Amino acid sequence: METVTAFQENLARIEECIHRACRRAGRPREAVRLMAVSKTHPAEAIAEAVAAGVTLIGENRVQEFESKRPRLTELGITNAEIHLIGHLQSNKSTRAAELFSAIDTVDSLRLAQRLNDAAGKLGRPLPILIEIKLSSEPAKTGLDPAGPDLRTLLQRLPGLAHLRLRGLMTIPPLDDRPETARASFHTLRTVRDTLAQQFPGLDFSELSMGMSGDFEIAIEEGSTLIRIGTALFGERPRP
Ligand SMILES: *Cc1c(COP(=O)(O)O)cnc(C)c1O
Repeated sequence: METVTAFQENLARIEECIHRACRRAGRPREAVRLMAVSKTHPAEAIAEAVAAGVTLIGENRVQEFESKRPRLTELGITNAEIHLIGHLQSNKSTRAAELFSAIDTVDSLRLAQRLNDAAGKLGRPLPILIEIKLSSEPAKTGLDPAGPDLRTLLQRLPGLAHLRLRGLMTIPPLDDRPETARASFHTLRTVRDTLAQQFPGLDFSELSMGMSGDFEIAIEEGSTLIRIGTALFGERPRP
């Protein structure tokens, strides 16, 4: 008899929660993609996720993933879709465009231009999400939804021919109250709906929001992509 791994058990439990949240929200299960966030975990963890059927993977840092990639290739993992979900400095944009299937944290025109150049040289379109900041915490990254920088970026995107905007992502303010997260998710959806009207030529279909502690709320508020680390892989080792 095959033994069920901790990952498989966690996945089954999360799937159950996703199904229930979708049912409550009147949304089909296929409307929500599950991303396994493998930061701090080794390449073997990614391989286990892929073997269990979770082929969408999120990594936070360019260098960290770069160091895992040779092992991942050794393990024969070639079919995973790996997104960068951590902050990206523009000087690492070329490497990021080479390593990742998509960049989910674009937060400046300068970064978008660098990524566009890199994707052009690679000869393949690069899907992106724009990261939106919904809290006043100074440490948080992302663009102010009401500020001029977001508008400028959106106006310039059609000229960046190698980038493919897919939608928005956000990390809610650090706060344990689920209703705070709900308010952020609701705001992101409203921001998206408004931008989609104002920029009808751009694709805003993806809403990346929801993590281990709040993904069911995010699904109820319209998330199309939930990013799950701890609830799948267990606690991360402390730095
Ligand atoms: C770490 C991380 C996650 C996963 O967080 P968990 O609470 O462990 O599920 C999701 N999104 C981003 C951007 C992260 O950095």
